Amino acid sequence: MASKLPYELTPSLYLDHRTDELTAFLQKIVRLRTVNPPGENYGAITRLLASTLKNLGFKVRRIRIPRALQKKTLPDLLAYPRYNVIGFWDTGAKKTIHFNAHYDVVPVSGKWRHGTAFNPTIERGWIYGRGTADMKGAIASIIFAIQALQQTGVRPNFNIEVSFVADEETDSALGTGWITPYGKLRADYAVVGEGGEGNAICCGHNGVVWLNVQVHGKAAHGSLPTQGINALEKMAALVLALNNYKRQLARQTFRAPNGERLHPTINIGGVFSAGEGGKINTVPAAASFTIDRRVLPNENVRSAEHALTAFLKSAARKIPQCRITVSKISDNFSCYRPPNHPLFAALQASVSRIRRRPTKFMVSTGFNDMHFFAQVKKIPTLGYGPGGLDYHGVDERARVKDLVDSAKIYADLLTTFRG
Ligand SMILES: [Zn+2]
Repeated sequence: MASKLPYELTPSLYLDHRTDELTAFLQKIVRLRTVNPPGENYGAITRLLASTLKNLGFKVRRIRIPRALQKKTLPDLLAYPRYNVIGFWDTGAKKTIHFNAHYDVVPVSGKWRHGTAFNPTIERGWIYGRGTADMKGAIASIIFAIQALQQTGVRPNFNIEVSFVADEETDSALGTGWITPYGKLRADYAVVGEGGEGNAICCGHNGVVWLNVQVHGKAAHGSLPTQGINALEKMAALVLALNNYKRQLARQTFRAPNGERLHPTINIGGVFSAGEGGKINTVPAAASFTIDRRVLPNENVRSAEHALTAFLKSAARKIPQCRITVSKISDNFSCYRPPNHPLFAALQASVSRIRRRPTKFMVSTGFNDMHFFAQVKKIPTLGYGPGGLDYHGVDERARVKDLVDSAKIYADLLTTFRG
């Protein structure tokens, strides 16, 4: 990318001098609207990221998910092919650190006050745009960390493997969920560029079970409601019964290393609807709602699903004429590793050194792609990146200093951690 400098610099000093280049690169990849769903411009961004890694001397594989597989998982989105980029820099080291970031972003709504979502502006040290925080900023930090090492002639202690992946914002199935079993990765350790930010490093995250509950009623004329079975009324009774379940969940805890106590939660009815053909003068024959159950690292995702399903069925039996069908939409494993592995200590030291603040380990209530590395590859995995504010919202933004600090931290980790 940049030409070799005539004088010696540390990676940190190099990065201080390249802030504009880093933000310009981030602006460039934000302008590629990789909105998911449906998964736009994946071809264009992976071409750009693959060539960027090639210019850094990486062996690069840009892998298109086979059409047959996409047909099975995303049959409605065949016009939007899925790609993942995997790069490998063989430094001659024995072991390999893997850096992972997803390049897809969530759709945009609302009116932005700072620039527009896909034409990012920089104001007072912040860069605004969809994906600046979640998580194209991390892509920029990873690339510039590597560039900083190369341009200053500082040798990393590891081979560096990088994955830039699709679909984290939906279910990761064809992104990190695909590369971890099938991508022939060589990673011994993984750093996912989100989950932790600032002075907090993520050493685990909650899992999730998403269910759909379909309530079956019987239609009748609105003037004769007793002749039907009102699915909406049955659904309302069932939703009220779930308050008991919430109380049960509130008694379970998981204590994170930073002292925070996490509880399992359910969010009811992120999506809820009546059946087709609903009319004001018809007794509703169908109603449905979703449940988003967050699963603690010390719980089992399968047992959580079974327990919730059993609760719903038993609650429905207690409501007269309440017939339901419960189906799973998707699930994701939790992950957690107590922060006593040397990788964790090394990243903690790097964050503290660069940011000059004490650093804590936290467990994220939301999920990210860490669990694929932790559970499928079974390797020590951390979440840390530049982060930002208003993820998924209006005026999403990343602080320029945090982008540069993250790049410095990655570079520092690669030269101080011994493996
Ligand atoms: Zn993300």
